[in-house]
Amino acid sequence: MNTDQVREQAEKLMPGGVSSPVRSFKAVGIKQVVVKNAKGAYIWTWDDIRLIDLINSWGALILGHARDEVVNAINRAAEDGTSYGLTSYPEIALAQIICSAIPGAEMVRFVSSGTEAVMSAIRLARAFTGREKIVKFDGCYHGHYDAVLVSAGSGVATLALPGTPGITEGSVSSTIVVPYNDVEMLENVFKAYGEQIACVIVEPIAANMGVVLPEEHFIKRLESIVKKFGALLIFDEVITGFRVKWGSVAEIFGVYPDLFCLGKVIGGGMPLAAYAGKREIMEKVAPSGDVYQAGTLSGNPVAASAGVAALSLLKELDPYDTLAKAAVTIKDAAYIAAQKRGVPVQFNSIGSMFTIFFTDQKVINYDTAKTSNLEIFSRFFSKCFNKGVLLPPSQFEASFLTVAHSPEIVSQVAEIIESAIESI
Ligand code: PMP
Repeated sequence: MNTDQVREQAEKLMPGGVSSPVRSFKAVGIKQVVVKNAKGAYIWTWDDIRLIDLINSWGALILGHARDEVVNAINRAAEDGTSYGLTSYPEIALAQIICSAIPGAEMVRFVSSGTEAVMSAIRLARAFTGREKIVKFDGCYHGHYDAVLVSAGSGVATLALPGTPGITEGSVSSTIVVPYNDVEMLENVFKAYGEQIACVIVEPIAANMGVVLPEEHFIKRLESIVKKFGALLIFDEVITGFRVKWGSVAEIFGVYPDLFCLGKVIGGGMPLAAYAGKREIMEKVAPSGDVYQAGTLSGNPVAASAGVAALSLLKELDPYDTLAKAAVTIKDAAYIAAQKRGVPVQFNSIGSMFTIFFTDQKVINYDTAKTSNLEIFSRFFSKCFNKGVLLPPSQFEASFLTVAHSPEIVSQVAEIIESAIESI
């Protein structure tokens, strides 16, 4: 089958030709990419075009594609059985790594997706506090669980969807949305509803409206407000966990939440996620407690083995400084080109993740992210694509570097991004 035929089949059989909306290339006006295979920093399309991948399974692959150690672990585990539906050693080993890497993660429950992790952590926070309301931030994405699919970034923002039909008023009526980085508004919300708020869920470093960093003291002040009213703090680190640094970004802020949501990197590219936290809270989860949450494939031995292999290698390689420097190389190139061409550019980054916004406003929340010129982004995307760099096909997503992006590949990316901005 040629690419057009494959695409046609995809579109006939799957809504929009994809299994998740962010994979659509609609927003950047190019035909759907269908992947044939991938290795290291490269992905090959169905028609054998080689692209330097900056999507990397939306951040999951910090070691690059098909890293030998991870693939071998998957093969070995699969030989021993692909699923038991019973406790097995790989999940214990993975829990051990997570709990020793993250202060405040004393117990872990494995699930299969970030959405499940968030949904379960919120249920647990509500049960633990006996309260119903939750607070989230505008432009933060926490998966497609009904209660948090309001003012969400990521695909909802990319496709300019006007909220989501199918979600009942009842499931969002206890959700309060506050602008990211707006402590005053958060204070007001707590003054009004503090006694009813079960938890605040936040991406401590936001990556679903593009990368947006918390302003100084935002996370600290957030913590003190939440504590004062006896609510729980949940860090959604599905993207940032083990991606920005080893373990959690909590250490950067000196703020340790009650619960962590993890996914992506901890599964080594396999469907695995988790929520974790203080023992006293986690012990409320069934069967040790009464908060029911379950999953046939949760803690799957093949996925957990991939996670153990990926995290073990990651610890050994400790690539975080190198990856952050690589992002700076790209940043410098982007700013040089922006200046030459007179295009307003904001380069938001931390560690190995970054987003280029085309606006003269500092991007500190969803409203400022939306000032980016989407038409310029779309042209920028196409120019990079045509020169062999695959960015996420959306302004409101992060680009990710991996260990497989060698200095040569990073220089190539920097050059291509520079020339793409120059020729916009
Ligand atoms: N939380 C965050 C911060 C995410 O970025 C995502 C997915 N990109 C999720 C939750 C949901 O994870 P999943 O797609 O695995 O359900």
